[in-house]
Parts: sequence; structure tokens; C-alpha cells
Amino acid sequence: MKRDVDVLVIGGCTAGLYFAGLMARQGYRTVVCDCSRQEYLGRRYDVIHVGKEHFGRFGIPELGPGDMDYVTTFRRSILRSALDKWPKNACVEILVLRRVGFIRRLADWAKEQGVEILYETAFTEPLFENGRLSGALLCNGTGDIQINARLTADASGISAAVRTRLPDDYGVENFVTGSRDQFYVKLRYVRLKHPEKDRVEISTTWPYYKTWIAPREESDGAIFGVGANLSFDYADRCFKRFAGRVKLPEHELDHIEQSSTPYRRPPYSFVAGGFVVLGDAACVTNPWSGEGVPYAWLLCSIAAEEFGKAMKDGAYPVQDAVWSVNGRYAKAQGALFAQNLAMLSGAVSCTPEENDYEFEKSIIFEDEDEKGKGNLVLKLLKGLLSGRLSWKSLSRLAAAAGIGAKIYKHYMAYPESPQGLADWARKADALWAKSGSMADLAEADLVGMGAAEQPLAE
Ligand SMILES: Cc1cc2nc3c(=O)[nH]c(=O)nc-3n(C[C@H](O)[C@H](O)[C@H](O)COP(=O)(O)OP(=O)(O)OC[C@H]3O[C@@H](n4cnc5c(N)ncnc54)[C@H](O)[C@@H]3O)c2cc1C
Repeated sequence: MKRDVDVLVIGGCTAGLYFAGLMARQGYRTVVCDCSRQEYLGRRYDVIHVGKEHFGRFGIPELGPGDMDYVTTFRRSILRSALDKWPKNACVEILVLRRVGFIRRLADWAKEQGVEILYETAFTEPLFENGRLSGALLCNGTGDIQINARLTADASGISAAVRTRLPDDYGVENFVTGSRDQFYVKLRYVRLKHPEKDRVEISTTWPYYKTWIAPREESDGAIFGVGANLSFDYADRCFKRFAGRVKLPEHELDHIEQSSTPYRRPPYSFVAGGFVVLGDAACVTNPWSGEGVPYAWLLCSIAAEEFGKAMKDGAYPVQDAVWSVNGRYAKAQGALFAQNLAMLSGAVSCTPEENDYEFEKSIIFEDEDEKGKGNLVLKLLKGLLSGRLSWKSLSRLAAAAGIGAKIYKHYMAYPESPQGLADWARKADALWAKSGSMADLAEADLVGMGAAEQPLAE
């Protein structure tokens, strides 16, 4: 079977459906395909957190009490030190949603904009005409479907099904996001033994261990989460260490969910002729939290504006015409995420006691009312002189801040045209080579834990 459309989106989850809806709203014939069954879409894990502000900002239909996919709202989150002290408050309204129901809601919204969704239909290979991407070959229970499209959007998640199949010189990097470049999340859904005193109504995070406790729908429930680079096994070991140091409320385990998100720099360009990569396929997750949904919406909204303009009157969107997607994204979010990603390994390489000092003096993490107060250099110097910060950790922190600042500046100066990319990418490669790797840290930590000799019992 053969079909002609304007836009073909591979992957019908939070990124793909949103982008498809935005393109259809501009009058483009848009088809989304997803290999999953309709009722299974989003089943990878149960509950997601999304800041309420993003709904208005991106024009996503809001939801609240009474909606099937709504769980709860919390307005305060807390960060605590490695020694479980010095709580730092963040006041942001967060909606807790059931992922499957929310994706169904997004699909309904996309359909209202005119999107057609093909479920149980997998992308198999990209199609080219005269060297230009011209759609894709799909496959479902009835056989092959050839879809000719002026724009193919890859929103297929971490597997980046289309991007990884593009030729080396097509204009968007075709790297595979391997195990060293992923953040492995394990969620323990628990029931509290003493909900009357331990009830979890806000989210608390311990950045040192990359662990958190979050509310669950049931008032006697909670979610204990951990994220770690490298492997689920390492994530488990991190959680075990955390539970040995921070007293968790007494509980019984209901079940565990596990899945991963990308943890690496995005491709240097998101766009090429007739192509855009979005969401986890584009690695646009927040390096601090691993969250990706609203950050992908930002890239989708920029891309939909630029492709919308470039595709007017039947035009094929060549890379030059949509190049501004890259620079706009870098300025709006990409430079900051790149800075954080480059800094993180240096910022977290310290002892629990040093992390506690950093919390006490609000060096990395600040309370809402501490923002901009105090002299950072003085605080670091005091820590060094009092022996609460080692020279080694301090120099690692300073090096991380230095490389982060350089990467930020470099991304803010993203080239105005594709012709400037090779030079810019060479400099970016050199900067990234100087930044540390969380996977290296994890490997060294595993050696320190004696992991090779001690298999972890569940
Ligand atoms: C445990 C866990 C908890 C998280 N919690 C949060 C959170 O609270 N808040 C938040 O913002 N982020 C969270 N994230 C991150 C978030 O889940 C991702 O950033 C987000 O799901 C990415 O959306 P996406 O649409 O890009 O990709 P995905 O959600 O991965 O969707 C990709 C879709 O593409 C389809 N697909 C793949 N290959 C093909 C193919 N060949 N043909 C057709 N279809 C294909 C898949 O079936 C899938 O439906 C969490 C991640 C994990 C692992």
C-alpha cells in the first residue's frame, strides 16, 4: 500500500503526538505510527510528574481532580543533603498523572487537530528520493505501507529508530544511545506501615544518591525512586546504600518498575532535509532529573513553528530552511542543559560530608529565599580552611563549573547556518572531551563497592 502525506511521525507518545498535533493544526496532513497497541501505549511505567506551568505554556489540555488520568498535585518539593539535613524548598506546582491515560488524552487532542494515528504499525526503513529523505516504509499486520512524506519526524524514544538509520552524512548524527549513555530508573511502589505519621504528600529528593520519595495515589502509598548511570544493577546498589544511610519510613513493597532515559548530549543538529528528531530520540532530557516530557514539548513547539513556515505551498523543508530550530532550542534550553550535563560529574564527586557542607552553606542547592545571597567563593574558602571541603573536591567542582560555563557560551553561539557547523562541532567535541563522564564515575564507584565480588540479592 502507498500513501502520500505531508508529515509522518514515528512514535506516538508524549513527543510524537504533541508535534503531530501542532503540524496538523497548521493544515498539514499528518500521520503518526506507533508499533505499540493503542491500549499499551505509555505502559512503560505508571505515573509521571509534569510541572503545571507547562500545560498553559504549550497549549496542552489541562486536567485536574475528576479526570481519570489525574492522580494528585503537589506544590512543594524538598531537596536534602547526603546526611539527610538542610532541606531546600522549591515551590513549583507539579501534576502527578497516570501515563497511559495522559497519552490517550494527548492522542485525542492530536486527532482533534486532524492527526491520523496508525497503531501496531512499525517503522522499518527510511525512504530516499534523489538523496533526499522522502518518507518511510512501515509494517503492520496487513503488510508493508509506503508513506511518502515531505517531513519525517523521529519521536521513537531512546531507540531513535529513524535517526540511527540515516546515512552518516545526512546532517543529523546517527549515534546509538548505548548503556553508558542512559539513566536507569527504578521505581519501588510501596505501602507505608504507618501512614498516619509517614504519609507522603510532597516529593523529597536526595541529589547525592539520585533518590527520591514521591506521593502515590493511595494515601498509604509512596514511590521510592532511584536513578543511576550505567545499569539497573548499579541503580539497585545506589538505592541500597541510600537506604542504609537515610531512614526510610517502614513499608512493604508492592511492585517495582524500571526503565531508562537518555543521558548524553543531543545530536548537534536536530534537523536535516525532510527530517527532525524529537524527545528521547533527540536526548533532550533534563540532566539533573532524567525527566523529559515538557523539555521535549519545547523542542516540538519550536520545530513545528519552523517546519510549518518552511513547508508552506508544498515546499520540501531543506536543512537550510529549518536550521533556526537548532539555535532557538540552544538559546531556550539546550545551552543550559549542556552546561548542567558537563558539570554534573564534577559537582557530585564528593563525600557525603562534603555534600552536607554544600547544602548547609547553600553552595549548589539553594532554598527559594536564599537565591542570590552570600558569597560563593567565601563559602568555598571557608569550607577548605575548616577542612569540611577537600582541595581535591573543590578543584573538581571548579573545573566542572569552568567547563560548564564554556559549553554554555559555545551553545549560545550556535552557528547561524549549516556551513558553520563543522567548525562549531569540532570546538564542541573538544569541550565535551574535557568534561567528566557519569558512567566513568559509576564504574569507579562499582569497583569501590566491590560489586564484582558481591552479586546483589533482591
Ligand atoms: C521510570 C521513568 C520515569 C520517568 N518519569 C518522568 C516524569 O515524571 N516526568 C517527565 O517529564 N519525564 C519522565 N521520564 C522521562 C520520560 O519518560 C521521557 O523523556 C519521555 O517518555 C520521552 O517521550 P518520547 O515521546 O520522546 O518517547 P517514548 O515515550 O519512549 O515513546 C516512543 C514511542 O515510539 C514508539 N516506537 C519505538 N520504535 C518504533 C518503531 N520502530 N516504529 C513505530 N513506533 C516506534 C514506541 O512504541 C513508543 O510509543 C521518566 C523516565 C523513566 C524511565
